[in-house]
Amino acid sequence: MAKGEIEINENCCLGCGFCEEFCSRGCIEMTDKLSLLGLPLPAVTAPEKCNACGICGWMCPHLAIEVYKYSEDTLTTAV
Ligand code: SF4
Ligand code: SF4
Repeated sequence: MAKGEIEINENCCLGCGFCEEFCSRGCIEMTDKLSLLGLPLPAVTAPEKCNACGICGWMCPHLAIEVYKYSEDTLTTAV
C-alpha cells in the first residue's frame, strides 16, 4: 500500500478540525497548541498510518495541507 506524508502549514490553518474528522486512518489530531491567531492547531500524531489518500488536503478549506506520496524510492506531491 502507498505510504504518505503530510505537511501542515500552521500559518494557513484556521483550526476547523476537518483534517482530523476526515482522516479515516486517524493520523491527525487537534491539539491544545494555538496558532498566532489563537486558533487550535492539528498535529500528525500517527504518521506511520498515512497512505497518502489526499483526503485531508482536499477537505482543508484553507489549503494548509500538502500531501506527499511515496512511490518506490521517490516522494511526489499527491495534492
Ligand atoms: S493523506 Fe489520507 S491517510 Fe494521510 S493524513 Fe491525510 S487523510 Fe490521513
Ligand atoms: S482542515 Fe486545514 S484549516 Fe482545518 S484544522 Fe486542518 S489544517 Fe487547519
